[in-house]
Amino acid sequence: MSGCVFCKIAAGEVPAQIVKKGNGIIAFTDMNPQAPTHLLIIPTIHIGSLNDAKDPNLLGQLLAFARDLAKEQRIDTRGYRVVLNTNPDGGQTVFHVHLHLLGGRVMNWPPG
Ligand code: 5GP
Ligand code: ZN
Repeated sequence: MSGCVFCKIAAGEVPAQIVKKGNGIIAFTDMNPQAPTHLLIIPTIHIGSLNDAKDPNLLGQLLAFARDLAKEQRIDTRGYRVVLNTNPDGGQTVFHVHLHLLGGRVMNWPPG
């Protein structure tokens, strides 16, 4: 979608530090990291939010991708957090659905 920064990253039109690619999904480092490991996982096709995600297989693939990435980043044993913010109350600021993979420090609960 024109004007969507994550579509532009997926198309290589906006630079990003891509850490994993595969099967219509890419992961790259967050520009404003909230933890020692903070990666964003996106479908390469534009989907605005979780509310717009019609394909449950894609949602499962995104989650499995995050799990595999956590292992590759060696944060799987100590632990990590996967976050999917949706719409304004959920804290979503980029309207192209994405998972945050956060690790490398202890996460607090409840979240802010
Ligand atoms: P949200 O608040 O929508 O869940 O998360 C959006 C995330 O995208 C934020 O953590 C923000 O730092 C990150 N972000 C926004 N624009 C860019 C960008 O152009 N490049 C990268 N690498 N991260 C971005
Ligand atoms: Zn997009």
